[in-house]
Amino acid sequence: MRCSGPDARKIAARVFASREPLRDRVVTYGEVLDVGGVVIDRCLAVAMDAPRTATGEDVVELHLHGSPVVARETLRALFHAGARAAGPGEFTRRAFLNGKLDLSAAEAVADMIDAESRAAAHAAQANLAGALRAAVDDVCRQMSRMLEELAGSIDYPDEVPEPARERVHALVAEADARLGELVRDWERGRLVREGVSLAIVGPPNAGKSSLLNALLGDERAIVSEIPGTTRDVIEEMFDIDGVRVRVLDTAGLRDTDDAIERLGVERARTALGAAAVALVVVDGSLALDADARDVLERTRGRTRVVLFNKRDIGTAGFDARADAENDALSGSVFDRSTLAALRDGIAAVGWNGLQLDLTRPHLASARQADAVARAQESLWDALRTLDGGDPIDLVAPALLNAVAALGEITGAAATEHLLDGVFARFCIGK
Ligand code: GDP
Repeated sequence: MRCSGPDARKIAARVFASREPLRDRVVTYGEVLDVGGVVIDRCLAVAMDAPRTATGEDVVELHLHGSPVVARETLRALFHAGARAAGPGEFTRRAFLNGKLDLSAAEAVADMIDAESRAAAHAAQANLAGALRAAVDDVCRQMSRMLEELAGSIDYPDEVPEPARERVHALVAEADARLGELVRDWERGRLVREGVSLAIVGPPNAGKSSLLNALLGDERAIVSEIPGTTRDVIEEMFDIDGVRVRVLDTAGLRDTDDAIERLGVERARTALGAAAVALVVVDGSLALDADARDVLERTRGRTRVVLFNKRDIGTAGFDARADAENDALSGSVFDRSTLAALRDGIAAVGWNGLQLDLTRPHLASARQADAVARAQESLWDALRTLDGGDPIDLVAPALLNAVAALGEITGAAATEHLLDGVFARFCIGK
């Protein structure tokens, strides 16, 4: 249990009794007292004095035993002694306000907590370490220096020469290019955080459920030999190279009179429409029936991987495939090498061989992407002014706007409203 704030020590002293007084950064053994002053737990406590703490304030932590009763009674005692519950993200917010973190790093804390894959956690760590702030600060510094030069030449036209138009143009264009890179990485970052959606589609009995189970590595969906038993859309996840793949296992796509099955088929079509990648499975052992031809035709021109399944019992369907299915895989979902080929195929079409260099700074939220987009628009304004032959000092307002927009990313220009939006994402206690 963590207490942060100027009264942290005073409050802790009323709840935690030890033979030795709490010393800065020294672990101390003692008793935890409930509201009535009765010992409710014995534990270690550590006090950390401001400003060398996560929040930049005095902090006391009680390392209690995990009983819900002990936790509840200790909380009551702390409240009774003058503490109050922290709001969502309040510790991180205080850290930001006390200059311990910039805003992009604070957001990275939330991303790290939310991370559902190794790749997402690595990406959050890079921003937490300040990679994004460094990239943005660099551009800001360059624009600020240009603004100073412009201001100097305006204030002291006789002593400070006006910066050369070509040089200003080159610097602004360079800043624009660097921001453009960040925007491209925004898509990449989103991929890392949210993963890629994949719909497994194909006629009933083609082997979709068996494939999903094989990809997940355990028995998730019910495999059955009765066509049309997978009636609902199931969402599952697995990893390829640390990237999360969200799989939508869909009901067999075929026309049916059964009302419930029809509903499943409808959902399957919707899921298929929304998924980034279609994994098309048909029974390749037999000549293709109308259902199989239909799903192949329907997914042509989409980002897809096609498997002609059941190679172990025949390849009639695969052998007679159309030209459009020339790059289709032939194999069996029960065969490891087929699964490996499918994973490679999904990675190739899903993130296009994109190297996920997670140590590179990246925009991690729509808020940050929006700020960069606005900064870029201002830079384009500046470039237009320069190209139009207007007096050079007219670029100053546009450069100022760009710096202000970028300041929102690191928090240099953070408003209360903006902070509320950022920290609303956090859970309590972070
Ligand atoms: P779905 O309806 O498309 O989900 O198909 P299922 O995964 O339920 O599979 C239908 C039947 O085909 C099951 O009996 C599976 O065991 C069988 N099956 C799936 N893949 C293969 C395969 O590669 N080879 C063989 N021989 N049988 C398979």
